[in-house]
Amino acid sequence: MGEAAQAQTLGFQAQVKQLLKLMIHSLYSHKEIFLRELISNASDALDKLRFEALAKPELLEGGAELAIRIEADKDARTIAIIDNGIGMSRTEAIENLGTIARSGTAEFLSRLTGDQQKDAQLIGQFGVGFYSSFIVAERVEVFSRRAGEGASAGVHWQSRGDGEFTVADVELPERGTRIVLHLKEGEEDFADEFRIRSLVRKYSDHIAFPVRMRVERDEKDKKSQGAEYETINHAQALWTRPRTEVKEEEYKEFYRHITHDFSEPLAWSHGKVEGKTEYTSLLYIPSRAPFDLWHREAARGLKLYVRRVFIMDDAQQFLPLYLRFVKGIVDSADLPLNISREMLQQNPMIDTIRTGLTRRVLDLLAKLAKEEPEKYATVWKEFGQVLKEGPAEDPANRERIAKLLRFSSTHTDKPEQDVSLEDYVARMKPGQKEIYFVVADSFATAKSSPHLELLRRKGLEVLLLWDRVDEWLTDHLREFDGKPLRNVARGNLDLAAVQSEEEKKEQESLAKQHASLVERIKETLGDHVSEVRVTSRLTDSPACLVLGEHELGPQMRRILEAAGQKVPAGKPALEINPAHPLLKRIEATSEQGEFADLAMLLFEQATLAEGGQLAEPASFVQRLNRLLLAMR
Ligand code: ADP
Ligand code: MG
Repeated sequence: MGEAAQAQTLGFQAQVKQLLKLMIHSLYSHKEIFLRELISNASDALDKLRFEALAKPELLEGGAELAIRIEADKDARTIAIIDNGIGMSRTEAIENLGTIARSGTAEFLSRLTGDQQKDAQLIGQFGVGFYSSFIVAERVEVFSRRAGEGASAGVHWQSRGDGEFTVADVELPERGTRIVLHLKEGEEDFADEFRIRSLVRKYSDHIAFPVRMRVERDEKDKKSQGAEYETINHAQALWTRPRTEVKEEEYKEFYRHITHDFSEPLAWSHGKVEGKTEYTSLLYIPSRAPFDLWHREAARGLKLYVRRVFIMDDAQQFLPLYLRFVKGIVDSADLPLNISREMLQQNPMIDTIRTGLTRRVLDLLAKLAKEEPEKYATVWKEFGQVLKEGPAEDPANRERIAKLLRFSSTHTDKPEQDVSLEDYVARMKPGQKEIYFVVADSFATAKSSPHLELLRRKGLEVLLLWDRVDEWLTDHLREFDGKPLRNVARGNLDLAAVQSEEEKKEQESLAKQHASLVERIKETLGDHVSEVRVTSRLTDSPACLVLGEHELGPQMRRILEAAGQKVPAGKPALEINPAHPLLKRIEATSEQGEFADLAMLLFEQATLAEGGQLAEPASFVQRLNRLLLAMR
């Protein structure tokens, strides 16, 4: 069959062009990675074939061993990576090698920094593996034929990486894919046996299929006996090897293979569970959050194998959502090979594995927090907000998760979240029964909240919570180590345990002394507040708002309103500080109009002080101006 008749020239998707240019630039100092990317793709193709052949054994076409071959020719300046995996049809070749299907590409391009090291990491994370061949090759040819199709279904794809590629039909008796790189001048080193051997050992040793390299022999031998191949990798699935035999570098390389993330994992846990349910797992904590950690549809989950046969990527059922940043594999000895995503949802064995894996990750994090606090600080910075979803999602592990949480606190007054609940408890004052916290929209608002004044003066530590998920967290984490968590901006703050008799008496007498002022303000503010009372928590501010113990906080209110829910307006109590000059001034005001303006301003400034919004900002401004003009 003549090739030319079916030849077709097509343009790369615009984004591919941009990517190719950037990649060739930014990855130049890491150019050897092309080999690992191509071997990784070959391994994926073999995995896919083995999986599809479970249902259609005829795809194996007689069943030659599944393997990857490398054929290099230094004189011709070529290196070929060959697999007898699933292969590609013509359409698949056009789609897979001409476009970037991933939704994150635009985001990827916008994140490039120009810093080689960082960009190289990004490129890895976005999985643009195949295109890395153009860093070292001036021309790339792909010969591929899908398993189960006739020899005439072959496709010949080629490109110089300059914006266009051509595809043509071709006869291919062998199933699978052969990728031929015509190396650029000066890159012939990559066709060197010794170099290839060391690169494969470094980057692809863990690949579960044999990687065989064609080795040179004497000229006359070559003619008489044909090529000879030598296996140059370990060819055993890494997780099936005993922990003691796997080197740290191998664990790291395997992480890169399954995640496309160039940066090193922070920690991992490799273990085998035997007994009623048998499985092996290898779980990694990445060192940074993926760009799509907060995208609802983002891929997450583990790679699932059944008795070493690859079954699927992104199996989500094996870990809870709040551990969605964990990467890795699970290999079950008991699940059926033909298990589908739908079946995973109903299989009771999955729950057992999920419980086990969840514990394994929590234990790993706890160990990291204890033994390597610097690494744990990175975990918290990257994934802390996700972990905070834990107490709500996984009540059974609440206490364990609580120990992993980190907060800002008045102990340091720094935005770094590095105070654990255990640290807090260890610093609690004699007589203190509750763990105090305040929630706000930002660190600055939390730190300067008027609700903290008295607690600060008393030397009582308060946790400063200012993440979006914090109200959600504290709604579900009600206590730690037997001590209730207490929002200091809510309800009657009972400081009896840490107040002296004298202070208590003074408080009572203040309340009596100013009862009529309280009454007058309450009458003036009417429905704006549920109650007015003399404060137990202010020392410097004139007033503050206090929500009822079980009322919806501002964060939750905003989340619910954004979701389109109608939320009944909450009614706070106003606490006043009669020792403050402003309150003295109000108390001394007899003219009712002016008194009303002042009382209302008191209420409004208390709202603003905690980052709240005024219901009628315009009348606030008018009020303020009236008072300013009245000043002489
Ligand atoms: P990724 O491997 O992350 O999907 P690549 O750029 O490395 O991205 O590969 C793009 C796609 O090209 C693969 O998803 C696969 O569909 C196809 N492909 C690449 N190499 C092979 C191969 N050796 N056999 C079959 N398909 C391949
Ligand atoms: Mg790839």
